[in-house]
Amino acid sequence: MSVKDAIFAGMTMGEKNGIPSYRMFIGGQWVESTNGETFEVVCPESREVVSYIAKATIDNASKAMEAAYLARKEMEYLSPVKRSEILRKAALLFQAHQDEVIKRVVLETGKPISEAHHEIAAAIKRLEYAAEEAKSIKGESIPGGTISDAGVKQTALLTRKPLGIILGITPFNYPCFIPMSKIAPALAAGNTIVIKPASSNPSPVLYLAKFLQEAGLPDGAINVVTGEGAELGDYLSTHPKVNMISFTGSSKVGNRIARLAGKVQLHLELGGKCPGIVSQKADLDLAAKECVKGGLKFSGQRCDSLSRFLIEEKVYDKFVEKVLLEVKKWKIGEIFDEETQIGPLINESALMKVLDLIDDAVAKGAKVSLGKEIAKDSLLMSPVVLTDVTTKMRIAWEETFGPALSLIKVKNFEEAISIANMSEYGLDSSVFTQDIDEAMYAANHLESGTVQINAAPAHGLGNFPFGGDEESGMGREGIGYSVYDMTKVHSIVFNPKK
Ligand code: NAP
Repeated sequence: MSVKDAIFAGMTMGEKNGIPSYRMFIGGQWVESTNGETFEVVCPESREVVSYIAKATIDNASKAMEAAYLARKEMEYLSPVKRSEILRKAALLFQAHQDEVIKRVVLETGKPISEAHHEIAAAIKRLEYAAEEAKSIKGESIPGGTISDAGVKQTALLTRKPLGIILGITPFNYPCFIPMSKIAPALAAGNTIVIKPASSNPSPVLYLAKFLQEAGLPDGAINVVTGEGAELGDYLSTHPKVNMISFTGSSKVGNRIARLAGKVQLHLELGGKCPGIVSQKADLDLAAKECVKGGLKFSGQRCDSLSRFLIEEKVYDKFVEKVLLEVKKWKIGEIFDEETQIGPLINESALMKVLDLIDDAVAKGAKVSLGKEIAKDSLLMSPVVLTDVTTKMRIAWEETFGPALSLIKVKNFEEAISIANMSEYGLDSSVFTQDIDEAMYAANHLESGTVQINAAPAHGLGNFPFGGDEESGMGREGIGYSVYDMTKVHSIVFNPKK
């Protein structure tokens, strides 16, 4: 499978030194930048260029908005069953050609291939579910006379209409699944979408557009604008034709969008500093296994990564021992090796941020109990276990986004909950205890969008609603929830004479 296959016709401007040079997708056409510029995507493992991408200008972004605007009525009046058929057909094409997309995710993200397999499988499933959801958008009726006798003959019919144009802006860490979790519900609900993927790894989204194009989606219903957020972001997020912005990324950028966006619906999935709380009544083997998985999956480059652990002092030493044993089982290696679990970080500044947080913690008394080997000129960092971490250290509060686990000793369970809630973030929390009363206490008192009892955070396909509060964002995503959010109520009131 390669981008040269017939199905992918038009997507590239050809190759430069054997490296594909991708176009953007606007108004049903594969187009180049209006000034002819491209930018490079570098593989985090080899540090070599693996793709060239058309670099959108404001003119390209404007054309994408115009195309989405022109297509919005056609999408609104496309029957739910037709929308469903198109999404289902796109899912079949994606399934058949997934190897090419997996390869791009691995190369551009430095994501170990086993992880990339999971991401792509989830993205295909999400598309299939959206195809079902397109047919299940329903309304309701309200009888008159419920607040006064005068309206007793009235009946209101409430239908759900698409919002219009959705702007999706997505981060680097799940370059296929996160865009899909915006594109699929937007189209299922009859909207059009303009999507801007992260510049580190934009090509997977171009493939999603290709599958939808081949499946018969009307021109302009999906538009992919590839280019720098810093250059295009303000233009896109303040565009007067946008009806909803669905953003996933850092709190810094999300807050900027929220300040600038004006009168549009906002969905913000932002950063996190998720705690793992370990009670003295926990099954410590299970807790250690899940905490390590929650901290190390995709090298900790996940918003819902567990990066601070609050452990009751009675079991602290025993838990540390178990964590060290678990971490040693994780395989560091090459990204195309199916056994590899830990690959490189996305770029130099991500690595520097993690090292800086570790240095701050060590300077303030934390111990590096394991890890921190970095090969020369590499972004591959071995997992670090920091013990004796205290709340005076930056790593206890700042998003780490790397394979570093910070273990904090607390006096009791109540103190753990209290420290967990002191964070400015509020995305996920995991609680490990075998005591149902403690579990209920934690669930009722933790200030986070999701509380997991005896497991690491995992959002899977979105079968449970997912999202955060405070600096972690606003709104919830998930099967059903996203489609609901991307529609609005339309009231039709009947006023019969008789
Ligand atoms: P990021 O730097 O905030 O970038 C996210 C997206 O925003 C990219 O497409 C980026 O484009 C774009 N962007 C940059 N500046 C912009 C601006 N001024 N206006 C509009 N868009 C702009 O985040 P990241 O480093 O890719 O991803 C990591 C972050 O995402 C972490 O904080 C993580 O917690 C968060 N995240 C949250 C969730 C969640 O569900 N809560 C899930 C995944 C990730 P460029 O790439 O071109 O700069």
